[in-house]
Amino acid sequence: MEENLLIPDNNPQHRAGFVSIIGKPNVGKSTLMNQMVGEKLSIITSKAQTTRHRIMGILNGEDHQIVYSDTPGIIEPMYALHESMMRFVQSSLEDADVVLWVTDIYEKFDEDQIVEKLKGIEAPVFLLINKIDLATQAETTEKIEYWAEKFDFKEIIPVSALENFNVEKIFNRILENLPFHPPYFPKDELTDKPEKFFAAEIIREKIFLNYKQEIPYSAEVVIESFQETEELIRIRAEIMVERTSQKGIIIGKGGEALKKVGIAARKDLETFFGKQVFLEQYVKVEDKWRAKPNKLKRFGY
Ligand code: GDP
Ligand code: MG
Repeated sequence: MEENLLIPDNNPQHRAGFVSIIGKPNVGKSTLMNQMVGEKLSIITSKAQTTRHRIMGILNGEDHQIVYSDTPGIIEPMYALHESMMRFVQSSLEDADVVLWVTDIYEKFDEDQIVEKLKGIEAPVFLLINKIDLATQAETTEKIEYWAEKFDFKEIIPVSALENFNVEKIFNRILENLPFHPPYFPKDELTDKPEKFFAAEIIREKIFLNYKQEIPYSAEVVIESFQETEELIRIRAEIMVERTSQKGIIIGKGGEALKKVGIAARKDLETFFGKQVFLEQYVKVEDKWRAKPNKLKRFGY
């Protein structure tokens, strides 16, 4: 963090710091961060690996600033893309003041990979057992006992991110564990990501929701232009896929499939930006973008 980013603050009781949210895909990390920040910053779907970047969400209060990092789920890398996703996880752990390790009541007990990543991390690690709205009291107790043996957690907290159960308790624990420090970012900032990033993420979420199998994983969205006027925002988005056949599927018969994506995306974009949105979408084939470092770089990985 650059010195000059620090905002002078005269309150010695002000707490600020970085909270890293880690865990396997699909356990509810993004749902939890959005719940804690109070904004839908991270896209959420029922498919694994929806979150590809490290996304910061900033929660500002009179006497605190909590900078959350939502990270991609931890997986064994299969593509260069995956390796880059795992580097985001690592970098978010390295500057964490508090680590929230999220699991859910379904997770199979194969946590060695995560324990490995936490070696040498000095920040307190909280285990959050999410989705307890789907479990009985006995099942939840059993999970707590199981996890208590696995790692030296500061505390194990059962939660339901969806139903906002125990989310406030997590907030209080975070605050108690943050150092006294002036804010790192201006207090009116919600996130470190530019508006374009969220536009791309919202469209990518609709692709995840509307297509099956390999298609969502082969697709990437690049915002070619983002122009805001008093009345509206004009967004031109390119959807990259890896093969011509995939382009056909994205567009669909008579353009119907892509139209569905566009309508759903526009609705969410308008809610997110609070303005009318004019969205143009183009589909392009970029051979094997997931495996090529220069292409990944262009997409911000
Ligand atoms: P991530 O991959 O860890 O970021 O997980 P997401 O936040 O994208 O959530 C994955 C899925 O789990 C979505 O379908 C969520 O709606 C669902 N989910 C998240 N939290 C809860 C919860 O507390 N209870 C239930 N029942 N479902 C949840
Ligand atoms: Mg996620």
